[in-house]
Amino acid sequence: MTSDPNCIFCKIVKGEIPSKKLYEDGDIFAFHDIRPVAPVHFLLIPKTHVATLYDADMSHAPALGKMLALAGKLAREAGARDGFRTIINNGRVGHQEVYHVHMHVIGGPDPLGPMIVRRT
Ligand code: AMP
Ligand code: ZN
Repeated sequence: MTSDPNCIFCKIVKGEIPSKKLYEDGDIFAFHDIRPVAPVHFLLIPKTHVATLYDADMSHAPALGKMLALAGKLAREAGARDGFRTIINNGRVGHQEVYHVHMHVIGGPDPLGPMIVRRT
């Protein structure tokens, strides 16, 4: 398990920074986003430090697979019962703020806005 001492999400995994935990197992950790954009907004992360999906390889497949496999169950339990959106931002173009791979799960009672605002 790789951990980066300067990474805020590694610190959350280790309990050094508090979080509102939804789920944890040997590979992944889920917690509520501190600045939710919808009534349901939580993050699923691998416990091991992976900065972006550019840095992922097959050794991360179990954790990344679990993040997808558990998203629906956790979304339903969090109150998003009629749909949700998953987002993984990567790098500068993706507007990634925290460089530890995380999948946003966003939902709520009302439909979300468009995924990307069209410029044309
Ligand atoms: P991104 O732009 O995809 O890198 O998103 C990073 C997300 O992490 C943002 O939605 C932040 O609100 C969230 N975030 C940052 N710090 C924390 C924290 N300490 N606890 C929970 N969520 C956080
Ligand atoms: Zn990290």
